[in-house]
Amino acid sequence: MNLTKKLAIDLGTANSLVWEVGEGLKINEPTVVAVNIESKKVLAVGKEAKEMLGRTPEYIEVIRPMREGVIADYEVTEAMLRWFIHQVTSTTIFKPTVMICVPAGVTQVEQRAVLDAALSAGARVAYLIDAPLAAAIGAGIPISSPAGNMIVDIGGGACEAAVIALGGVVVHRSTRVAGNKLDEAIMEWLRKEHNIIIGDQTAEKVKIELGTALPVEKEKKMVIQGRDIVTGLPKEVELTSNIINQAIQEPLREILETVRGVLEKTPPELVADIVDRGVILSGGTSLLNNLDKFLTSQIGVSFHVVDEPLLSVVKGTAVALENLEVYEKSLKK
Ligand code: ADP
Ligand code: MG
Repeated sequence: MNLTKKLAIDLGTANSLVWEVGEGLKINEPTVVAVNIESKKVLAVGKEAKEMLGRTPEYIEVIRPMREGVIADYEVTEAMLRWFIHQVTSTTIFKPTVMICVPAGVTQVEQRAVLDAALSAGARVAYLIDAPLAAAIGAGIPISSPAGNMIVDIGGGACEAAVIALGGVVVHRSTRVAGNKLDEAIMEWLRKEHNIIIGDQTAEKVKIELGTALPVEKEKKMVIQGRDIVTGLPKEVELTSNIINQAIQEPLREILETVRGVLEKTPPELVADIVDRGVILSGGTSLLNNLDKFLTSQIGVSFHVVDEPLLSVVKGTAVALENLEVYEKSLKK
């Protein structure tokens, strides 16, 4: 019997997930931590901490420790990892083996920081894998083949587009424009057009309910509550799908340019493969209505959203951890 648990960890800007090899998804929580400012103790992690956002007494701070896919607050990230590892391994005295996915563009220093955080949070051994490779494995792509495959992961804080072949990342590009910037664009539009301020959680809800990357004929509608900038009083406004489509044009264009930029730098042989196979979309923002159709129409290559786009990266990381001998060459050194 193998007593050492194997944990695949996806530390996302928006959501963190832990998948135990042989078991399945163990943790799926917003990447939010509430800490006591004085004692530095972690008070809550995930949903519980997110609910405290904007309503905490002075001695509590609610922190999002990851920004654009990399650690913004090292101490808090380590505390969060410790909390995750404890949740999953508290029934055993053995330290787990973990694999964490990191953006393709992280620096050596950032890689070291993630590894150190994992080790000091209780991992026996820690491995790192490029997130685009993990996403591709999660999508069922045989990454070691010489054929080119393109994957675009659009999460909360970053959009990362990469072409992979022979088990490695050949070309990649990323932008800090992703789900959060869509939310901000909606907030900004409401402020400019209606003099209304709404919170980011409301903006996210509007985006998920109404948002669309292409104008639609059958529009959805929603009435939201905000605060009038001039009077300071509550004010209602009705929003529709096509209004939100207008509001998010700028971040959509930025995502499009990132994807286009990768294709422009990709060697022609690999471009031919990608034209044949299409591009895979993963990450929560790939669930935005019509994003696949928008990219397909603008780029002229077909885009498909992977099954369970919020889970594909952590699943792929788990597959790599379970089959270390196959994927060893593809891991970060
Ligand atoms: P990260 O890897 O950065 O943690 P995720 O892949 O978990 O990000 O995706 C989170 C993002 O996906 C958030 O910005 C969230 O608003 C967005 N999202 C989730 N579901 C939908 C949806 N149905 N439509 C549009 N955006 C969505
Ligand atoms: Mg992610």
